[in-house]
Amino acid sequence: MKEEIFKLIKLQAIDSEIAGFDKAISKHQAIVADREQALEEKKEAIATHRSKIELLNQKQRETKIEHDDAGARVKDRQNKMMQVQTSREHQALLKEIEENKKILKDSEERMLQFIEQIEQLEQDVKNLENLCEGEKKLLAEEEANVEKEIQRIEQSKKSVVNQREAEAKELDGPYLKRYKMLIAKRDGLAVVPINGPVCQGCFMSLPPQQVNEVMKAEKLNLCPTCQRILYYPQPEEEVVDEA
Ligand SMILES: [Zn+2]
Repeated sequence: MKEEIFKLIKLQAIDSEIAGFDKAISKHQAIVADREQALEEKKEAIATHRSKIELLNQKQRETKIEHDDAGARVKDRQNKMMQVQTSREHQALLKEIEENKKILKDSEERMLQFIEQIEQLEQDVKNLENLCEGEKKLLAEEEANVEKEIQRIEQSKKSVVNQREAEAKELDGPYLKRYKMLIAKRDGLAVVPINGPVCQGCFMSLPPQQVNEVMKAEKLNLCPTCQRILYYPQPEEEVVDEA
């Protein structure tokens, strides 16, 4: 029995190592994905700015028409002033001229505001485009680095996976089946040591009788709480530092 438990411990160590490789690969991929996301957000901001600029240009053109029309009306009423006879007509024309002058002034102010806003947005677009260029370069570098790094990890992983195949063949079918089931259901951790009476998988205490059984290792011992396969760490495993 002890032999089988050693094999299980070894297989768990290999599988944890493989999980570590996978985690490292995901981490690198996440860094690239984050950079891509940031770049995408800037591109969206540029597009939003551009449609705002388009809208402001449209408003600016409409206001220009309003402004020119008011200017034409002022000229027209001023010409009519020469021809009117009565003071009432004169007053009416003056009033219209005043109203249109007010439109002239208002529309001019609005046009200036639109132009200012457009200039600001165009400046922002320029800045964002510069940032995007820089980030595109960084992203390309990062992608190349990550690709290399992932290749390196995959290479290390390959040799461990081969080793795993060999180790798994050594195990008796029912043990391997139980092991695989636990790996799937218990977050990749099927075989765990005990520390005193405590299971290092779920950190619940075992009854004293079971602690003795785990130490003897005459049969497969499962944690009563998490069902993981338990083992008692041999003293030589704990004094790695002296090696
Ligand atoms: Zn447990």
